[in-house]
Amino acid sequence: MAYLNEQTNEIIFNKTDLINAWANAPKISDANPDEFRVCMYCQFPMKKKHYVANHRLKHPTDAWAIDLINLKKPKLVGKNLFAIHAGCFGLRRQENQTRRLKRYNRTKWLMPKNE
Ligand SMILES: [Zn+2]
Repeated sequence: MAYLNEQTNEIIFNKTDLINAWANAPKISDANPDEFRVCMYCQFPMKKKHYVANHRLKHPTDAWAIDLINLKKPKLVGKNLFAIHAGCFGLRRQENQTRRLKRYNRTKWLMPKNE
């Protein structure tokens, strides 16, 4: 279970948190959900093996970090965690992303095509 390190003011996540956060990110219909998911902040894919614990560290552009779905009820529980791009950290639009996330989960996402 995640906890807040009060000295650094950072949330420390464990392996279960990572699994939950990844599972809560919207799937891409033409990609393996265990490999790619869509970042809700920019609509581009994230790659599962490119996790970074701290978004401020150097990372690939498709790296992901964990954000909270609902900041109004900032509980560090599995259903309140989701994966977003490490580089998109801070681009949140609403404090509570629950409804937006539901809408994203109903949307059919596709991998970008190289043209
Ligand atoms: Zn993004």
